[in-house]
Amino acid sequence: MDSEFKTCDDIFECQLCGDCCNGFGGTYVTRQDIINISIYINFDPKKFIGRYCDTSGSRYVLTLGKDGCCIFFDKNKHCTIHPVKPYMCKAWPFIQTIIKYPENWDAMANSCPGMKKDIPYKDLQKIVAMEKEGLDKSSRT
Ligand code: SF4
Ligand code: SF4
Repeated sequence: MDSEFKTCDDIFECQLCGDCCNGFGGTYVTRQDIINISIYINFDPKKFIGRYCDTSGSRYVLTLGKDGCCIFFDKNKHCTIHPVKPYMCKAWPFIQTIIKYPENWDAMANSCPGMKKDIPYKDLQKIVAMEKEGLDKSSRT
């Protein structure tokens, strides 16, 4: 019998609650993210880390505003850099770890109301892999 879960829309629909934009340490930025965002906000990429990042281990994460949310989150629950938001934000929740450990999906769903629970692991792995591949391809172009 055909599965009812075939595409990303069958397992995830962002509720725009903004919870994933709140709190320290979540949003890693790549070198390419830094360039993309800098161009978008018309800022010198060489100064970006000093102005918009903190460190988490050996990597850079977007810093927080006074409200405890990502510096690029505004009070109307919008990402102000949506078209160029970091790879990590674009990818969520279709991330590599789910392909390997699909059992993590439901735990992640506890903090993201857009993620549907109780998806058969096989379907989950297939959809996540498909989405990730699409994003990776588009990120390279
Ligand atoms: S926590 Fe989930 S549902 Fe809420 S804004 Fe983030 S991705 Fe969307
Ligand atoms: S870059 Fe945008 S989507 Fe990502 S955490 Fe910041 S406000 Fe949220």
